[in-house]
Amino acid sequence: RTAVVLLTRDLRVHDNPALAAACANADQVVPLFVLDPGLGRLSPNRSRFLHQSLADLRTSLRARGGDLVLRAGDPVEEAMKLAREVGATMLGVAADVTAYAKNRERRLRDACDRERVSLRLFPGVTIVDPGELRPGGGGSAYRVFTPYHRAWTTAKWRDEVATPGTITLPDVAAGHLPAMPSGESPEAAAGGESAGRRRLTAWLRDIDAFGERHDDLPGDGTSRLSPYLRFGCLSPRALAGAATARDAEPFLRQLCWRDFYYQVANTFPRIATTPFRPNAGDEWRDDPEALTHWQEGRTGVPIVDAGMRQLRAEGWMHNRARLITAAFLTKHLGVDWRHGLRWFGRWLLDGDVPNNSGNWQWVAGTGNDTRPYRRFNPIRQARRFDPEGVYVRRYIPELASIDGPAVHEPWRLPDGARRRLDYPGPLESHRDEAVWLRP
Ligand code: FAD
Repeated sequence: RTAVVLLTRDLRVHDNPALAAACANADQVVPLFVLDPGLGRLSPNRSRFLHQSLADLRTSLRARGGDLVLRAGDPVEEAMKLAREVGATMLGVAADVTAYAKNRERRLRDACDRERVSLRLFPGVTIVDPGELRPGGGGSAYRVFTPYHRAWTTAKWRDEVATPGTITLPDVAAGHLPAMPSGESPEAAAGGESAGRRRLTAWLRDIDAFGERHDDLPGDGTSRLSPYLRFGCLSPRALAGAATARDAEPFLRQLCWRDFYYQVANTFPRIATTPFRPNAGDEWRDDPEALTHWQEGRTGVPIVDAGMRQLRAEGWMHNRARLITAAFLTKHLGVDWRHGLRWFGRWLLDGDVPNNSGNWQWVAGTGNDTRPYRRFNPIRQARRFDPEGVYVRRYIPELASIDGPAVHEPWRLPDGARRRLDYPGPLESHRDEAVWLRP
């Protein structure tokens, strides 16, 4: 028996249910990845990370006697072509929640039915399956986090599966990995299961301090594992197991947020384009100039600009900074969250539809938040989470000469000192509460 495993967002050999099942049930296994030529244009950073992840996975599979078979084109057509070529009777793939993935699954099902190949869907993209927990009183998904979290903490998780020992590949051309894409962020983390596992090992030494440190902007005390979860270089289930063994409740809660947005996206496929509820405020403004200032980290509000520059430099931004920058765009500049979503989507290594859209909607007040009118005062946030201005100075060299917390409000400096800075004055907010910016 021969099986094809279509790998998508599960680019790992450890705890990979689709790969493990194929190795257990078939004599020959073809691990396949299909490069969709259109996707690279959306995000050069993720394209590079994906390339590194594929190269690493190929090395791991070769070390087990197998290979990563690469094709370019439409994933369904290429998977079926390969299944015919090797005479596969089974095709395995990880179930996923986005509209794109569901369409792929539906087309795979039709094609497999036609060609008498058995299609099997496997868990692995989340910790708890997206459709598993249902709110009481009907409804297809939880819309509010707290009750979901309560149910999630008592849900039974699937068992982790064994890493395959040896893999037997049928006679098939492996295909070339194209040249490494250049990416856009000079300090972006490297992709791949090996890099992810090294990061994880280091993180498990720090995990106990997460509860205290996760909002500390200069301390950088979060795991930075999100890109590895995004591409499935790490198994969320295995990560949750490691966190449970260390009683790391605050960290598990963050992982639960990820599952939460996946189950929302599972039942609300238009999450990236359509608000859950009307904008909790005024109409969105069309202000391309303000949007450009925000994108380039030149709003003149240092804590906002520091976050936006971290995004471009690293392809990643601290969660607290994501909240501050997203709230600034939507609540202070009044610009539609979908512009911010697209900009984050272009740069973030961890950018994905459920988390990016769910969080943007939460901040914008159109999403699954019980307090949609919440405002973030960026200066208060800056004083609280970057009390000495270390984070701001790290990303804004123009302000490096200003000591201590004064760096958060350069507009309060004496005239002469302010004029010497090569840094803009603060953008006017369209809302009255912008008084915080006035001296
Ligand atoms: P840690 O604090 O170490 O958390 C561990 C893991 O938990 C993360 O890797 C992530 O998988 C999950 N997690 C943590 N916070 C959240 C959250 N609020 N929502 C969902 N999952 C969470 N996260 C993404 O993975 N992809 C995105 O595209 C994305 N876009 C965002 C956009 C906005 C406007 C905001 C406010 C947040 C966004 N987040 C997104 C959530 C969060 O900021 C990142 O997951 C987190 O910063 C990643 O860093 P970390 O791995 O060090 O997180």
